[in-house]
Amino acid sequence: MNYIIIGPQASGKGTQANLLAEKLRIKHISTGDILRAEKKSGSKLGNKLKAYMEKGLLVPDKIIDEVVDKVLKDNPGGIIFDGYPRDEEQAKHLDKITKIKKVIFLEVPDDVSISRISGRRICTKCGKDYHIIFKPSKKEGICDDCNVKLIQRADDKPEAIKVRLATYHKQTEPLLEHYDKKVMRINGDQSIQGVKEDIFEKLKLKLK
Ligand code: AMP
Repeated sequence: MNYIIIGPQASGKGTQANLLAEKLRIKHISTGDILRAEKKSGSKLGNKLKAYMEKGLLVPDKIIDEVVDKVLKDNPGGIIFDGYPRDEEQAKHLDKITKIKKVIFLEVPDDVSISRISGRRICTKCGKDYHIIFKPSKKEGICDDCNVKLIQRADDKPEAIKVRLATYHKQTEPLLEHYDKKVMRINGDQSIQGVKEDIFEKLKLKLK
């Protein structure tokens, strides 16, 4: 059974999708992570993606739909989609190939989203993410696990954040109408544990 988690940038989608995937024993799939790995590999496709991603623009539907087709084939036990679908076209594609049980909508105001994004740092080697205030590394600017430098993602820089949030409001938020009664609204502007409890309660899942 598949789920979707929708919310603006840095609303905690990845964190909550991980917690829920663990509980339901299904797979958390972040299309952003898949595309970043492809970009990092330096493949021909990866180089093509770079131009879109670093500006905060969506990559073409044809590329992303192919990624999702493969992911669905590889994970018949169920998926939580994080970062997909991003627009009406992608939602229509998904409707054709699978069923969605629930859509978890994390509501977070833009100013909170921006303050969370601007402090986000990632490890250049393992991709682990940190936040300079909310989730700092033990040694400033250095990954706890790899001992290499942390950087700010190109698309987390202020110019790209503006584009990404505008795209989210214009193209992704309207999907809440598309999914209508399947949508569960959750206040994302609270602690990780608070958000988790709200999601689990609405899905009638035990916390432990
Ligand atoms: P995210 O980590 O979900 O914010 O994704 C990072 C970037 O990957 C986005 O800004 C887009 O360029 C690209 N991306 C991720 N998911 C999608 C998608 N479903 N459709 C198009 N582009 C995507």
